[in-house]
Amino acid sequence: MHKGSCLCKTVTFEIDTKIRRFHHCHCQTCRKTHATVFGSSALVKASDFRILSGENEVSRYKSSSEKTRFFCSNCGTHVFATCMRDPGDVILRIGTLDGDLGIKAQGHIWVSHKPDWYEIGDDLPQHQEW
Ligand SMILES: [Zn+2]
Ligand SMILES: [Zn+2]
Repeated sequence: MHKGSCLCKTVTFEIDTKIRRFHHCHCQTCRKTHATVFGSSALVKASDFRILSGENEVSRYKSSSEKTRFFCSNCGTHVFATCMRDPGDVILRIGTLDGDLGIKAQGHIWVSHKPDWYEIGDDLPQHQEW
């Protein structure tokens, strides 16, 4: 069981499953969405993901034909995303989780989009795309 929230704590959620496929994503849309060098996210089963509060404050933005990103309307935190390719999964933005995760990042994805001004400083596997 893990719990998390947006910055202003309007949107809170819990997941009652293990986190899987935890990656740092360097794609252009994650960089813009998070306004930082890369986005860190993990997959959880949609059936194991529950919004506890603030559901009416969740806004959505379709960042590609397949991907929809969900934000807190009040503070702007990007909380999760969904992808039409994997309708059974929620792509959770890992920075919204509180407490220990019991897992470390497994690698870097979309390294082909990484800007020149950032060098990856760890030994995790690097994938040019997904
Ligand atoms: Zn918020
Ligand atoms: Zn990405």
